[in-house]
Amino acid sequence: MIKDLTAIVGDAYVLTGSDTEKWSHDWIRKYHYSPLAVVRPATTQEVSDIVKWANRTGTPLVPISGNTGLAGGGRADGAVMLSLDRMNTIREVRDASRIAIVEAGVVLADVHAAAEQQDMIFPLTFGAKGSAMIGGVLSTNAGGSNVLRYGNTRDLVLGIEAVLPNGEIMNIMSELHKDNSGYNLKHLLIGAEGTLGIITAAVLKLHPKPKAYATAMVAAPSLPAALDLLNRLQEATGGAVEAFEYMPRHHIEAYMQIKPGAREPFDAPYDVNIMVEVGVTAPRDATPGPDGQIPVTGYLEDVLAQMFEEGTVLDAVVAQSQAQRQDMWERREAAAEIAMSRLPIVSNDIALPLDKVATFLEIMETRLPQVDPAAQPVIVAHLGDGNIHYTVWPGSQDEDVHDAIMEATEEEVLKLGGSFSAEHGIGTSKLPSMRRRKNPVALQTMKAIKAALDPNNILNPGKLLP
Ligand SMILES: Cc1cc2nc3c(=O)[nH]c(=O)nc-3n(C[C@H](O)[C@H](O)[C@H](O)COP(=O)(O)OP(=O)(O)OC[C@H]3O[C@@H](n4cnc5c(N)ncnc54)[C@H](O)[C@@H]3O)c2cc1C
Repeated sequence: MIKDLTAIVGDAYVLTGSDTEKWSHDWIRKYHYSPLAVVRPATTQEVSDIVKWANRTGTPLVPISGNTGLAGGGRADGAVMLSLDRMNTIREVRDASRIAIVEAGVVLADVHAAAEQQDMIFPLTFGAKGSAMIGGVLSTNAGGSNVLRYGNTRDLVLGIEAVLPNGEIMNIMSELHKDNSGYNLKHLLIGAEGTLGIITAAVLKLHPKPKAYATAMVAAPSLPAALDLLNRLQEATGGAVEAFEYMPRHHIEAYMQIKPGAREPFDAPYDVNIMVEVGVTAPRDATPGPDGQIPVTGYLEDVLAQMFEEGTVLDAVVAQSQAQRQDMWERREAAAEIAMSRLPIVSNDIALPLDKVATFLEIMETRLPQVDPAAQPVIVAHLGDGNIHYTVWPGSQDEDVHDAIMEATEEEVLKLGGSFSAEHGIGTSKLPSMRRRKNPVALQTMKAIKAALDPNNILNPGKLLP
């Protein structure tokens, strides 16, 4: 096996034994595995040759990019891991058509930097941006904090290049915004978690860079009041709210514990803390007036003042500098670190209609203790798009109890018209939910697609499909 792989990529790029340590566990160290080897191709042709070899030898292949996925999709016992990390070239950034053409191993933060150099942004962002790579981001259809305004990964990709499970290279690197020529295979591979092909490159959509941001921490009396704030801000700014993130009191307290020296957002403690950010591109909204105030900050403050008068906002702090804005983001982006500060965790990544979020959390206040009386929820939410990270620190070590927590959560979510998987994907951790909850006809159709494209079950077997 080593000889064959070495012949394709060269002996420096086939790793075994202790050299594979970096790839032997997931980011949250929930799963530990021993890949047979890690192979690091440099070109799409090499990826194709490896996939053809895997079919000839019946060797399972697990594609891996930044290894920050939170659903156990990179588990690789008895498989060869195919790392895209050497395919890290940004081929082109074109400002006239607002696109970036990048290879799958480019780190998300590097796409951000390349876009910003030309006064544009790639708006997809989340805590793992310094490690997650485009191949993994596309394969998990990642979301993050700006979905509210720009959509998730699916909305930000025009074309892809991928190696299919039989080793053929499918080049659909379209730069088009409209293309109705048959089935949309790009969207079939985005979010497929490496089960239907290995993404090797992508054409990404860029957006104009906001010329000014208004960022604030806001305390609201309730989640419905917070939703009212979101809707009023959208009206006042023409839909320019980029992030609307909910942190309950326990998040604030946990953050101050893991970050000594971090400060309370307000003088008093509140239960509903929102980090809101509005971004504007038009000079009329971004250029300071004679009093030095940036208009977008004024729009935000006007809405806040009005709601403060009505009692639907309790307190607010508007960032006065980039450093204050950064502090606000760091508090939010520490969510994964906070959740991981105590193990084990039961990780629920759920989506709900926006006006059902409060109902769900109220129901779970009663339901969770019925399943595990000592369980503690550690919640944070991309409230603007209805995505709650309903993580639970279980009181019990018993895996059956953990599964019962997950089952109770998904049951309540589904009753309210939600989904048990919002943005992290299925991997292996959500397989029981997939088995229990996914529409059986949809599941059957997915299995038929997998069987048609990957009859030898070579690509990321045992993931996504129960
Ligand atoms: C601190 C932290 C914060 C996070 N916040 C968010 C968040 O807000 N929103 C969000 O959506 N996610 C979030 N995540 C999850 C994670 O970062 C994303 O899922 C990310 O998109 C994964 O990218 P990756 O390169 O690390 O993929 P990996 O972990 O390497 O892979 C993820 C899956 O994709 C498959 N895969 C990888 N590369 C390819 C490829 N080239 N072709 C085909 N399949 C491939 C893998 O087999 C695996 O199943 C967070 C993670 C961390 C650690």
